Amino acid sequence: MNASLTIPIVLGWLAGWLVNYLADVLPRTRRLTPPQCAKCGTPLSPSTYLFFRPCPSCGAPRPRRGMIVQIALILLFLWVWLTTPRLGFWVSAILLTYFTLVTVMDLEHRVVMHPVSLAGAMLGLGIGTWAHGLVSTLIGGIAGFGIMLVFYYGGVWFARYLAKRRGQSTSETGIGFGDVNLSGVLGLMLGWPGILAGMTLGILLAGAFSIILLIIVLIARRYQHFLTFPYAPFLVLGAALILF
Ligand SMILES: [Zn+2]
Repeated sequence: MNASLTIPIVLGWLAGWLVNYLADVLPRTRRLTPPQCAKCGTPLSPSTYLFFRPCPSCGAPRPRRGMIVQIALILLFLWVWLTTPRLGFWVSAILLTYFTLVTVMDLEHRVVMHPVSLAGAMLGLGIGTWAHGLVSTLIGGIAGFGIMLVFYYGGVWFARYLAKRRGQSTSETGIGFGDVNLSGVLGLMLGWPGILAGMTLGILLAGAFSIILLIIVLIARRYQHFLTFPYAPFLVLGAALILF
């Protein structure tokens, strides 16, 4: 094996640890606390945690996501190492780590947390300015945030309208405010007009997926009025396709 490949493999593994740790503790404690067992809450020692051993107290195995994230990030890091995209290996690796964190947390908790958005905004401001200048970065950020804000209020209005017609109350909307913040972050990263392409791609991907999902749900006859839908992974995927 090419010796230099150990660099992306080791870095990918470390990034996987970081993503798993943040996705484990942030939604539970909202702080950078020591990791706990997801089932019984017992604090896990670093060796238990880092080597994916089951909980010493209740024996609960670690979530399957842990290994998936480790392997996915190694493969992604190898990919950017071998293809050397426009942004270079290091910036690409940082972005892929961030995108993986957002995707995992949105799939598991349907939320893009404020600290994650804030960290992304700082990351996006730095990388965006480096890649396409401050003005393009700022306009991209404002455009991403603003466009998704319109969709967000459109969704709120539509949900209220449907609820009124059915004579029931609902708080379910398709898009969460976290998606609005995330679009702002992606706007900083992609700049203007890149964010337009990124968002269009993300929304098309989400649309295609939701049609497939709807067909499956209809075939299975398990239709629910408002399926909560994770938009963040599609927005991130759209941005990644533009960036890489
Ligand atoms: Zn436990």
